[in-house]
Amino acid sequence: LKNPPAPPGAVPAQRIRFEVAERRAVLDRVDSALATGHLTQGPQVARFEELARTWTGTGTAAVASGSAALEIALRVIGVAGRTVLVPVNTFFATAAAAVRAGADVRFVDIELAGLGMDPDALRDALDRHPDTAAVLPVHIGGIVAPSLDEVVALCRERSVPVVEDAAHAFGATLDGRPAGGFGRFGAFSFFPTKVAVSGEGGLLSAALPDDLEQVRRWRDHGKSAQGSTLHDRPGSNWRLSELHAAVGTVDLERFEHTLALRRALGVRYDALLADVPGLRPHALPAGAGGNYYKYLAYVDPEGPLDRALLKKRLRERHGVSLAGEVYDHLLCDHPYFGGGTDDGTSASASPGGPYERGRWFARHHIALPLYPSLTEAEQVRVVDALRDELS
Ligand SMILES: *Cc1c(COP(=O)(O)O)cnc(C)c1O
Repeated sequence: LKNPPAPPGAVPAQRIRFEVAERRAVLDRVDSALATGHLTQGPQVARFEELARTWTGTGTAAVASGSAALEIALRVIGVAGRTVLVPVNTFFATAAAAVRAGADVRFVDIELAGLGMDPDALRDALDRHPDTAAVLPVHIGGIVAPSLDEVVALCRERSVPVVEDAAHAFGATLDGRPAGGFGRFGAFSFFPTKVAVSGEGGLLSAALPDDLEQVRRWRDHGKSAQGSTLHDRPGSNWRLSELHAAVGTVDLERFEHTLALRRALGVRYDALLADVPGLRPHALPAGAGGNYYKYLAYVDPEGPLDRALLKKRLRERHGVSLAGEVYDHLLCDHPYFGGGTDDGTSASASPGGPYERGRWFARHHIALPLYPSLTEAEQVRVVDALRDELS
């Protein structure tokens, strides 16, 4: 995965940029790891965890990936042989982690204001599955949905632990409270497409010190205590290396600036898009301090172009690449979960069918390019291209 080659003037879907001084800082930290021989689970990982705490407001434990973070949280809770509830609109990894942890996955529809789990659909699912061992809300696009408060309350009433899939949401808040601090665990990813990166990497946030201690056991082959050669659970190698932490610490040291830039870009898109016909930006709900992992907007279903054609024309005629959707297929439609055809004609794709809101969202949203190095001129170019194609 790398920055794609782009013709001059083109606006790519994504651009990862480390300035010279930042690259030097990474190299210095890698050099110190090599000089000391401390290549994994050392001072850089500790520093990475410490920097991340500023943004989660909880204790933290670094792990190898966002997927590992999700699986470990579910292993600590113990979900094998029971139901785990997952929103129908999320990345495959959310559900796959639950499958690997031995759970039966069931899907829940979303609500369209904050793209969180729909509380009524969740209540129904909890009634239908009294064996539910965990609920996994996902902060789609970096929005911590106001509906999360109700989701957490419903789960608390029934003593069901919540694991936030906060892979999109590092630095995002709801009513000033950070993502990762609402559930028993928050799972973050530092994969290159996310708002903060370490190459590969993940992190768990948790309020309870014992939960974090259990994470440290699971991530290190299930050792019964640090330094022990006795193992009391089927852990794995879910550790973060010092070399990845060297990248991650440099990125987290600039994260306050990253977040400010992303938010300013989001606000500027709001203003620029005001007079573009046939396109409605997704308004951030009151209280949601989004991180603009995705700048989401909806293409008018009655408009001249469908999403696929719009994306093709933007790319071919204007050199503008949109970012990837979050997501274009519901989990229930993936072949692994027994999904039907891909062409939108299957019975489950009919309007009014199951997961109606998730299906509407999956079909109609787009994500505009948004990353800290995006310039105002590039934003204007994106918006001009949209206006041209949609008018
Ligand atoms: C990226 C992502 C993950 C997985 O993270 P990795 O670091 O790639 O394992 C999980 N859930 C969601 C919602 C994601 O976007």
